[in-house]
Amino acid sequence: MTSCPFCDIVNGTGPASLVHEDDLTMAFIPLNPIYPGACIVIPKEHIDHFTELPDDLAAAVMVVSQRIGRKIMKIYQPLKVGMVVHGFGVRHAHLNLIPQYHPLDITYKHLAYIEDGKVKFSEKHLPHPTRDELDALAAVLRLD
Ligand SMILES: [Zn+2]
Repeated sequence: MTSCPFCDIVNGTGPASLVHEDDLTMAFIPLNPIYPGACIVIPKEHIDHFTELPDDLAAAVMVVSQRIGRKIMKIYQPLKVGMVVHGFGVRHAHLNLIPQYHPLDITYKHLAYIEDGKVKFSEKHLPHPTRDELDALAAVLRLD
């Protein structure tokens, strides 16, 4: 185990529902997928932020993301597939693929809720699938 959960996935010491793996990249289902089809694509190398990736690695992440995005479009038929690289959360570069059925889906509007008259943000209202359910989602998106 390392201090980076994504490096643990790369090393095989952390659980993940894998969609894809090649020499440079991995893709897996997030623990709280906003919709079926949501996917995370990472470089295997531990690099904090997407802007720090060498060109060839950034291109590899983008090509895999696009291939998975095509599969999301074909299988789940959202209006669009969006990509978000916000750089927060896990400090290992990652690109979030998001099926979008509404223009605000890209904003993760599902994280917002009102409590005590204030707008708050949390993953608590997102789905919390079991590992078997995550594995089933991954099997649907797996690249050939
Ligand atoms: Zn890492």
